[in-house]
Amino acid sequence: MICCTKCFKDPEIKAIIEGIGKKVESECDTCGKRNGYIYDTEENDELVDSFNGLLEIYTPESQLPDDFPMEKKYLLKNELDDRWNIFNIEKDKIYPLVKNICAEKYNETSDLFNTPISILVLNESDYLESNSLLKTNDWKSFVKEIKYHNRFNTNFINTNVLDIFCDYVKVSYKKEQTFYRARISQQEEGFSINEMGCPPIGKASDGRANPLGISYLYLSNNIDTTIHEIRAGTHDYITVGTFRLKRDIELIDFITLDKISPFSEIGLEQHAVNKEHLRKISDEIAKPLRRGDSVLDYLPTQYISDYLKSKGHEGIRYKSTMNPEGFNIAIFNPELFECIDVQVYDIKEVIHRKEKVVE
Ligand SMILES: [Zn+2]
Repeated sequence: MICCTKCFKDPEIKAIIEGIGKKVESECDTCGKRNGYIYDTEENDELVDSFNGLLEIYTPESQLPDDFPMEKKYLLKNELDDRWNIFNIEKDKIYPLVKNICAEKYNETSDLFNTPISILVLNESDYLESNSLLKTNDWKSFVKEIKYHNRFNTNFINTNVLDIFCDYVKVSYKKEQTFYRARISQQEEGFSINEMGCPPIGKASDGRANPLGISYLYLSNNIDTTIHEIRAGTHDYITVGTFRLKRDIELIDFITLDKISPFSEIGLEQHAVNKEHLRKISDEIAKPLRRGDSVLDYLPTQYISDYLKSKGHEGIRYKSTMNPEGFNIAIFNPELFECIDVQVYDIKEVIHRKEKVVE
């Protein structure tokens, strides 16, 4: 069976196939795209060890304990797609492809491919207690705990586990790099350079990353994103400030936090039990603030940001849900940037997109 680099999202797998060096112009049999590097499961074996290693953490249903919970059993094709985000092809094409890549494994243990499977440690509380970011809890119970029970000294989090994943997703920016921040004004003259920074100490309201009274500098990577982020209305005047970075910095990248490859050096079982928590962090920090929000809703992400700040990190990068093309950063020390220019815009039109709410 033939597949190509474009059949995959996973960067490690793409790199292995590219390394084989067989680029073709014609359409790939599996994904239908052109100009990919080709992998032929009949001729190549470079992917076998990676996939076999991943399959190793799974146990087929027949060998799971009798009382193993139903909701923690999955089908391989769903696991590879939902948990690990490896492929860039339709779900139905995943099964035959993996079966062909791991032909030998399939002959030895077809149960792994054809019956429900799971990872034993997903149900081992001793293991979770020390290897899962939220110990034996899920995100919902962490939210409840920090909102209504213990806020500043919660023992719900294994911060050493958070460190392992954060170390993997650092993103660097060089001195002189520019970012943007916008403010809405009623007057055409807008704001001056001196008025474009974040609120003074003690005056900041709660944000997804910063707690009440502690100012972080929130910036976007381009003008469109920052205008989307402040949700300007038609005929609002918007002042956009250009902010220049004063020295090289390194941020923790919440955009890729939940997309770390299973073929990285992080232990597969530990990665598996944390994948959902990492996705939650990545999504929650990017959620737009809503008018009806309780500030208590921001506590979980504020807690995580506060921890990262206490460890000496300089800020975080996160996706923009208001403008999927762009991204945002929250800088713990606003002094790292200076505002060098302002430009006033008049908003001519606001386009509202809606989507049905799925709970
Ligand atoms: Zn392909």
